Amino acid sequence: MRHLLNILDLTAEEIDRLIATADDIMEDPEKYGDACRGKILATLFFEPSTRTRLSFESAMLGLGGRVLGFSDSSSSSARKGESVADTIAVVSAYADIIAMRHPKEGAPLIAAEHTRVPIINGGDGGHWHPTQTLTDLLTIRHEKGRFEGLTVGLCGDLKFGRTVHSLIEAMSRYAGVRFVLISPQELALPALEKDRYIDAKGIPCRECRSLEEAMGELDILYMTRIQRERFASEEEYQRLKDSYILTPEKMALARGDMIVMHPLPRVNEIDPAVDEDPRACYFRQAYYGRYIRMALILKLLEESGKGKAVPDKGHPHFPENTLPGAVCQNPHCITTTEQGLPQRFLPAGPEGKGYRCLYCEAEYTP
Ligand code: ASP
Ligand code: ASP
Repeated sequence: MRHLLNILDLTAEEIDRLIATADDIMEDPEKYGDACRGKILATLFFEPSTRTRLSFESAMLGLGGRVLGFSDSSSSSARKGESVADTIAVVSAYADIIAMRHPKEGAPLIAAEHTRVPIINGGDGGHWHPTQTLTDLLTIRHEKGRFEGLTVGLCGDLKFGRTVHSLIEAMSRYAGVRFVLISPQELALPALEKDRYIDAKGIPCRECRSLEEAMGELDILYMTRIQRERFASEEEYQRLKDSYILTPEKMALARGDMIVMHPLPRVNEIDPAVDEDPRACYFRQAYYGRYIRMALILKLLEESGKGKAVPDKGHPHFPENTLPGAVCQNPHCITTTEQGLPQRFLPAGPEGKGYRCLYCEAEYTP
C-alpha cells in the first residue's frame, strides 16, 4: 500500500509524473471529472485547518468522488480519548483514501500502521507537510521552469515551520540548489534537519538574521508565519512575532525575476502592498494546490489495488527499538498522547552520534 507521509516517500521521477498529471488536469479538467466516481475521501483534521482541508475536498469533488470527515478533533471521538490507531482502523473501513492532519508529530505513521487504505499526511505538528511541498514544487516548476541551480531563501519560523522542513528535504535532491536560512536564532532550523539534508549532502547554505542582506541573491523567497500554536510561551511568541516583515522597499532589493512564495495563511509577515508585485506568487501557489492534490489522489488510489473489497492492511515495517527504556522528550511527539504506543529510537546519523525518535524524529541524547 502506498502512503504519502513524507515528501521523500516519492522519488524525483514520481514527482515529475505528478506534476505532468496536474498540468494535464489544469489543461482539461473535464477529462478527469469522473476519474474517482464511487470513491470516498475521508478528511480527518484533528488539528483545525480550513485551507488544506478544503483543498483536498475540492480536489476529490473535482475528480467526481465524495468526501466525509471532521474538521477539528472536538467533533471526533478523539475528544472522548480515542487513539489515532483506533480512529483510523474504523474510518479506513468507510473510505477509500484518508487525508489527515494532527497536532502531534509522527501521528500519520501510526495511521499508516492501522489503515486499510492509503494515508496522506496533511501536516503533523511542526514535522512534515508533504502536500504543501508538492504544491510548492508545482509552483516552482511553473514560475521558474526548473528546480536545479536555484538559490532558495527560507524566512521566518524555520524551527516549527513544517512546510520549510518538507521543502528543504525535497529541494535537497536537485543539483546546484543553495539555501539561505533567514531566522532569529531562537527559530533556526533544527540541527538534525540541517545535518541530514543540507550539510551531509554538501549543499551550500548560509544563515543570516536579516532579509535585507539576503534579498539580492535569491531566486525564491519562501516566507513563513511564526507558528504561534507551537510555542511553549506566549511571551516568547510576542517577542519574536514581528521578526520579519516583507515590504515593497525590501522587494526593491531583489532581482526582477525572484519569486515570493508563502504557504499561507499570512499574518503580518508580508505587507499587503507587496501583493501587487508580479513577483508575489502566493495566491497562484494556493491555486496550484488543488491540482497537485488531484494528481496525488489519483496516483494513490490507482496503486492501492483497484476493486478489492477487503484490501490488505498496509503496515510499514518498524525496525526494532535500539534504545530500551528511553522516553521521547519532545512535547509534540505522538508518543505523549497515544496510549500503548511503544517508544522506538534509531541512531541519529551515520556517525552514530545520539539517537532520534522513530515517530517525530526529535533528537535524543542518552
Ligand atoms: N492552517 C491554515 C488554515 O487553517 C492553513 C492550512 O490549513 O493549510 O487555513
Ligand atoms: N498552512 C501551512 C501549514 O499548515 C503553513 C502555516 O500554517 O503557517 O503548515
